Amino acid sequence: MRQMIDGRTRICGLIGNPVEHTMSPAIHNFLAGQTGKNLVYLPFPVKDGEKIGDAVRGALSMDFLGLNVTVPYKSDVIPFLKETDELAAQIGAVNTLVRMEGGFKGYNTDMPGLYRAMLSDGVSVEGERVLILGAGGVARAVAMMLAKKNAAEIRILNRTLEKAKAIASEINQLEGREAVIPMELSAWKELPEGRRYLVIQATKVGMYPDVNAAVIEEISFYERVKVGYDLIYNPMDTKFMQLVRKGGGEAFHGFKMLLYQGIIAYELWTGVQISEELADKTYQHVLEQMKK
Ligand code: NAP
Repeated sequence: MRQMIDGRTRICGLIGNPVEHTMSPAIHNFLAGQTGKNLVYLPFPVKDGEKIGDAVRGALSMDFLGLNVTVPYKSDVIPFLKETDELAAQIGAVNTLVRMEGGFKGYNTDMPGLYRAMLSDGVSVEGERVLILGAGGVARAVAMMLAKKNAAEIRILNRTLEKAKAIASEINQLEGREAVIPMELSAWKELPEGRRYLVIQATKVGMYPDVNAAVIEEISFYERVKVGYDLIYNPMDTKFMQLVRKGGGEAFHGFKMLLYQGIIAYELWTGVQISEELADKTYQHVLEQMKK
């Protein structure tokens, strides 16, 4: 059902490049309808990276309520903000801009989104032994979140050891303790047997169209996995998830992370708290949209 648009309709949107495949309009326009807000959410491709500051200034001048920011601008946008939230500044990436007096404040809702998704799936982090597969931008933010939430053990396993080392040393310095241990991907064989881990899959391996691959294929690895959380959401049942189940663990995909980063952004823009019930309803709605 299309919302009523009138002279009072507020605008939110997504800046990035490309933005054609985003599911964010489905999330936010549904939430606006369900919460009775006169708000529309639209995609705004910013094709020229040099113009990202112009895009932020334009949105501010035209009284946009807020923006999401996606690749490749999550870091580039920071110099054009009035303020950056502490967590977003530590992560070094902003995905949500919220209007404040004289400018936008930047937040990162990806990590709180992942945390809330895990809570909703009944997966706890506190006191857990965790392996992160991958050492890209998302893995770095995940490691930071896990350190803040007091996971008992955090190991980053990456094909390129140097990248895992760089993240570990940065976080360990920030935390003032040996919170994160870097390892080469193939070194999982050195992990003690009989111990089961929460494993967060943060590489691109297994993402559509490369659906028949997993970053680790050996089943003996998956016998060490208690819960496998793949951050990939396309497809929704990855090879990694199938192997986790085969090894006797429980497996989840990354779609709820995507949903909750949107929900937290919506809460920041509107001040409305989204209930678990409405989150579930939104989840079903967006799934149906994806099938179309
Ligand atoms: P990135 O910065 O490009 O990092 C990619 C990682 O994948 C690197 O650690 C890289 O290892 C590893 N990798 C790539 N190909 C590999 C291979 N063949 N074998 C072993 N490792 C390989 O990516 P990112 O931005 O952090 O994104 C990571 C994942 O998170 C993606 O799958 C993305 O879809 C997902 N994600 C999900 C959400 C959500 O809302 N659910 C949001 C954002 C991202 P090297 O360092 O050795 O190259």
